[in-house]
Amino acid sequence: GPVVRLTDVRKTYDLGGTVEALAGVSLSLADGSYTAVMGPSGSGKSTLLNLVGALDTPTDGTVEVAGNDLGAATDDERAAIRGTEIGFVFQTFNLLPRSDAVENVALPLVFAGWSRERRHERATELLDRVGLGDRRHHRPTQLSGGQRQRVAIARALAPDPAVVLADEPTGNVDTETGAGVMNLLAAANDRGTTILLVTHSREIAEHADRIVTVRDGRRESTEELGGHTATG
Ligand code: ADP
Ligand code: ADP
Repeated sequence: GPVVRLTDVRKTYDLGGTVEALAGVSLSLADGSYTAVMGPSGSGKSTLLNLVGALDTPTDGTVEVAGNDLGAATDDERAAIRGTEIGFVFQTFNLLPRSDAVENVALPLVFAGWSRERRHERATELLDRVGLGDRRHHRPTQLSGGQRQRVAIARALAPDPAVVLADEPTGNVDTETGAGVMNLLAAANDRGTTILLVTHSREIAEHADRIVTVRDGRRESTEELGGHTATG
């Protein structure tokens, strides 16, 4: 079945009044597919990503990742799923400032229970893959924005997650560097990693196999761009 499946997902926030961030969204990500989500500010994109990323739970409907029903899981189970099945790439990189590249990439593997030696080996392999083998002992402040994002992508891929969630991954780097970042995500997708990307940029979204547009918490349209087959 699909790696990620949302079924009739509704999410409301109660702050005095009720805001309906998602108003009934269904979405399936086939294994190895690459989906971009676009939509205006406030349309529910971040809410969708937070639900798939096991950072929050739906008000109604179900969110399944790698066969796990996230709404039915305990907080500990959700944390474990987050650590092993989900990779995050953020606009602001979110690297640990006092840790070097190897330690940053190895961090998810600490949560996944890997031994120190295997963590180091895996992190080194991934830093080589993103072209930063010679920067492995640099801290984030000693790296450019593009290099930081490459470390973040290596970190996201470290546990070989079922899905990588990328939220405006090129938002803080220049266009040329952004192209390199998008090439790394495409390479990960070519190796079989399922990707869910949120972006405001049509040009960036066109790296995906399909573009899903959301508006007012609902799916507005779906555009297939070829490549692998994405479902529903
Ligand atoms: P998020 O979608 O992650 O919640 P925001 O909606 O706050 O982020 O938008 C992030 C940045 O993108 C802001 O600087 C905002 O002004 C800009 N932005 C928002 N909507 C659009 C859009 N439709 N097209 C281009 N830029 C946008
Ligand atoms: P987008 O990422 O497309 O900009 P969001 O998912 O951030 O959209 O927001 C969708 C709606 O939900 C907006 O009206 C936003 O103000 C609201 N919202 C998002 N997160 C929260 C929250 N933590 N508390 C209250 N309202 C929220």
